[in-house]
Amino acid sequence: SDSHFPVPLSPSHVDYSLHYPQYFPSSDKVDGSNKVQFADIGCGFGGLLISLSTLFPETLMIGMELRDKVTEYVKERISGLRVAHPGQYQNVSVVRTNSMKYIPNYFEKGQLSKMFFLFPDPHFKEKNHRRRVISPHLLDEYAYVLQVGGIIYTITDVEELGDWMESCLENHPMFEALSNEELEADPAVKLLSSATEEGQKVARNGGQTYQAVYRRITPAS
Ligand code: SAM
Repeated sequence: SDSHFPVPLSPSHVDYSLHYPQYFPSSDKVDGSNKVQFADIGCGFGGLLISLSTLFPETLMIGMELRDKVTEYVKERISGLRVAHPGQYQNVSVVRTNSMKYIPNYFEKGQLSKMFFLFPDPHFKEKNHRRRVISPHLLDEYAYVLQVGGIIYTITDVEELGDWMESCLENHPMFEALSNEELEADPAVKLLSSATEEGQKVARNGGQTYQAVYRRITPAS
């Protein structure tokens, strides 16, 4: 059940100073200039966030995870890293929530520059496709919270889901695929198959992966 965690009324009700205390000295708490820019949706055990944290040390990022115990694990992992490496990992945090319901409660219009969907649950049966984290309807929401030029990264080892995510993105008027040159130049792309626990499992088993990386655009009028 996902009924036992607090849901902020709006992004302005989220006290991000609790997540990133080093970035919110008490004197400029109201300034609001430090905003989360990356979201890892269904972050699992947090491997991607940990890698992104040192790759983009000035960017605030958050994982969203539905499972309580997994979220607690990621919280502890981050506090442990903060203690072991003073000054590092201050830009990364996690929240327990249902991302399919509450994305707009956490992020304002155009706030995010990157959203990650790494190895999401496949929900094979047709009647369960509405539970997939990428869908035409949810892409409307992601387009809303992403800034123009922001990027959605998806990867899976399930071919059918890979096709589904790619066709949802391809058919959405507010997204366009990155070119091969752009994919190669983007350091985040390199992490998709290697940084997360699920990605490492797939790699160990020699599994194939299917990625789709799309940019938020302004639709042609
Ligand atoms: N991204 C991680 C990785 O690559 O290792 C985890 C992949 S795991 C297969 C999918 C994760 O998504 C699980 O941890 C699950 O609890 C989480 N999840 C599923 N539905 C969710 C939802 N509606 N909101 C937030 N997290 C969700």
